[in-house]
Amino acid sequence: MQEIILIKCGELALKGLNRSTFESVLMKNIRRAVSPIGPIKVKSAQSTISIEPQTDEFDIEAAIERTAKIFGIAAFSRACVARKSMDDILQRVSEYDKLGLEGAKTFKVEAKRSDKKFPLKSPEICALAGEALLERYPHLTVDVHNPDVIVNVEIRDYAAYIHGRQLVGAGGMPVGTSGRAALLISGGIDSPVAGYMMAKRGVQLTAVHFASPPYTSERALMKVKSLLERVSEYAGSIGLFVVPFTEMQEAIRDKCPEEYSTLIMRRLMMKISSIIADKQNCDALITGESLGQVASQTMLALGCTDAAARKPVFRPLIGMDKEEIIAVSRKIDTFDISIEPYDDCCTVFTPRHPRTRPRLEDVIAAESAVDWDEMIENAVLNSEKTVIELQ
Ligand code: ATP
Ligand code: MG
Repeated sequence: MQEIILIKCGELALKGLNRSTFESVLMKNIRRAVSPIGPIKVKSAQSTISIEPQTDEFDIEAAIERTAKIFGIAAFSRACVARKSMDDILQRVSEYDKLGLEGAKTFKVEAKRSDKKFPLKSPEICALAGEALLERYPHLTVDVHNPDVIVNVEIRDYAAYIHGRQLVGAGGMPVGTSGRAALLISGGIDSPVAGYMMAKRGVQLTAVHFASPPYTSERALMKVKSLLERVSEYAGSIGLFVVPFTEMQEAIRDKCPEEYSTLIMRRLMMKISSIIADKQNCDALITGESLGQVASQTMLALGCTDAAARKPVFRPLIGMDKEEIIAVSRKIDTFDISIEPYDDCCTVFTPRHPRTRPRLEDVIAAESAVDWDEMIENAVLNSEKTVIELQ
């Protein structure tokens, strides 16, 4: 039995974003995510996008798993393909076991004919398909007002499709329709979630990670890559820049007042990320900061950090509790990786008494003990790029 996936887009009523761009980016993202599983055709007709496998061995379950992670899809369903004859349609209706009817008590059939030449009209198709289903599932009754499951029979140009219960899509907007931004990623719980959330709003990600070997290990870097692999299941491929940060952290430790060290470090991260963002055509920075979570995330501290950035800084977690952030990280499967115990550059040089109400003048005075320009330039020059791709 041939099966396909039928897709309903999300947010199509968006103002200012044209529908055909949305749809063509979405189709490209679908091809990228699903074609590694096997050969497919992705088509758009009558406001539905379909994924059509081109071989019998195609793993439709795997394709469904991938489809569920593509942003811009509100709902989708797996459908079975029938020839455009009522006999074949009825045979499929009673054979197809993916309509979601096993656990249901009531159902109704809805028929749509985009091919008006089909000899039966919609009410007749519904009546016949309903009969076939009642015969197959004697426990069911028809409820036309509030059914548990709606079985759809669609008569299209080249074939008929039969589908049942809809699956919930990832929502949001197709990655790539909202531009590109640089995600500052640590190995922690928060930043991968922040990247996922901005990708959901259609943002394509470039990642920047600051590494301080030998204080931070190769394992810590592997961890960041594993996190990005999980995020890329939603966000598509992600270019990762690993920035050497040891020299700067040692300079902060040796030359700057300890109570400002975290803030100085965060400001340097902003400066370097802004330069990388420019080179990579990113129009914003993204961090996993959440108000009040640690000393460097008070309102005044965030203000000092922002003052060093040359791009808007998006902080999608700003109003979320840790528990809420963890719930998302479990959903996207990054939590177990995030809690692996490898040191991040932030944890290596943590001050004992950080300032929670810093004044920008004081931070700038504290950091002026070092001439950073050349170090910043070198850090950008010596950063290494890899690409994290969905396999
Ligand atoms: P996370 O769980 O994401 O590590 P956190 O609550 O531990 O966040 P901080 O360590 O203060 O908070 O970092 C705040 C934000 O700064 C992170 O969410 C991330 O965006 C960025 N950041 C921290 N460390 C690094 C790093 N080594 N490389 C790149 N960005 C970093
Ligand atoms: Mg951290």
